[in-house]
Amino acid sequence: MGTMQLSEIWNKLLGHVIQFAPWAEDRLEEVRKRTWYLPSPETAQLNLLMVCLDLDLDDFRHRSKAKHLLEELFSSDVSQIDAKTPMFSGQIAKLPQKHVDRLLQSVKWAFEAPFEEFEQLPVDQAVILVRKSAPSLKGFRAHRWLNSLGYHVATPDLPRQRFLFRMGWLKEVSTAEAGKKAAFKEIQKLSVAVEAPLREIDYVLGLFAGAIEDSGTGVARCLAQPLCEECPIASECLFFRIQGSDKDRGSGALADTMRTEDLPKERIRKEGPEHLSSAELLSVLLRPGQSVPNTLQLAHRLLRHAGSLRRLSEMSFSGLSEIPGVGSANAAILMSTLELCRKFNEEDYFGVGQHFTKAEAVFTHFRSRFLGAKQEEIYVINLDSQLKVIRIVPVSKGLLLQAQVESREIFKEAIKDSAHSMIIVHNHPSGSPKPSKADRRITEHLYRAGEFLRIPIQDHIIIGEKEYYSFAEEGTLEPSEDFS
Ligand code: SF4
Repeated sequence: MGTMQLSEIWNKLLGHVIQFAPWAEDRLEEVRKRTWYLPSPETAQLNLLMVCLDLDLDDFRHRSKAKHLLEELFSSDVSQIDAKTPMFSGQIAKLPQKHVDRLLQSVKWAFEAPFEEFEQLPVDQAVILVRKSAPSLKGFRAHRWLNSLGYHVATPDLPRQRFLFRMGWLKEVSTAEAGKKAAFKEIQKLSVAVEAPLREIDYVLGLFAGAIEDSGTGVARCLAQPLCEECPIASECLFFRIQGSDKDRGSGALADTMRTEDLPKERIRKEGPEHLSSAELLSVLLRPGQSVPNTLQLAHRLLRHAGSLRRLSEMSFSGLSEIPGVGSANAAILMSTLELCRKFNEEDYFGVGQHFTKAEAVFTHFRSRFLGAKQEEIYVINLDSQLKVIRIVPVSKGLLLQAQVESREIFKEAIKDSAHSMIIVHNHPSGSPKPSKADRRITEHLYRAGEFLRIPIQDHIIIGEKEYYSFAEEGTLEPSEDFS
């Protein structure tokens, strides 16, 4: 294929990615700027942990989560890590002990990795050295880690290989290792032909082939079940031209095999669900219908319609079932799955019998419950003398003041439970947890009532979309004047 033709294909791919995922423009800017500059030990270490846990390196929320995990990893006695240890209730806690040990060994090594040596090495050898020294960087993780630090290495994983193969750029390859090498060469060739950095090519192909999470924007096309009818480069694709035709049976057969083998359910079995995109995961849940027999296509349609997984979780039953091809059976499946996720999140962090230690646990418990709520909802958490949760009780819906919540309503359930103290929780549908004047007034009122009834209020927590406000942590729980 000539350079002109490759440039045209590349421009179409780039245009498509930016049209469907405008945020990718900023990420691409970052990717282009990234240079190999002998990274700081801290960055190398943090990136390694993120790659091992399959977190998005360019997402600041993932970065701060990883920083937190890194601190936990070093501040704990690894031999004592137990899946029930609250600190490790996240991804690390779910790993078997030997994986945690390997992770720790790898993270320690990353801090003092011999980066000058890498500079002198060809990619293959650098990858071998990394894999040997950091046992958690298996498979393509070594590529991803080096890539994240600015080293010129592409990630010739299965989705990218599949895309290259379908385009007719990658010939049939005998072994997995040969496939990786050939794909790497092709990505390099494309980089030279279109004069774009290797990492940029890698990123765009990753999004297009579904190897990189697309945040529900539906940018991916060349998935295990390809969405050829919505593909901007279909006319240049060998697979598209020969599928269903008797010509070139060999390539067609292999392309079909790849489609079947890579079906999401099969990939979950082989690679684990963490390697699938949101659309692929959704497609496993959905049932095909007459109008849309391809569930992956339906999953993309759903995500495009909703805009993101978050928005999808906020949709009503009728809103979901009215999307063409979804229907009431799929709407019920989606709603029950999302509700299960909410319940799981709540159970994981905070619940009956657990100690109240910090407002963050309450926030984590309530956050998913309040996502998409259109009005304020008020809950009380009744606590015993050891600050253990006796019961979490919904009290009222509607604006805190408009609902005329009486102290009586709030304390009735606490008295029933013989609670020693309690926490008030309510949400702000606007997403900002900043307390209003009314919130402050009612907090003061309830605080006083709690003192009179000898059921003190431990905290009043306002749940926002991404943050919370804790009156106790902010030191604004107690009224300023002395009323004793
Ligand atoms: S036409 Fe289909 S198989 Fe070819 S690149 Fe596009 S999505 Fe992939």
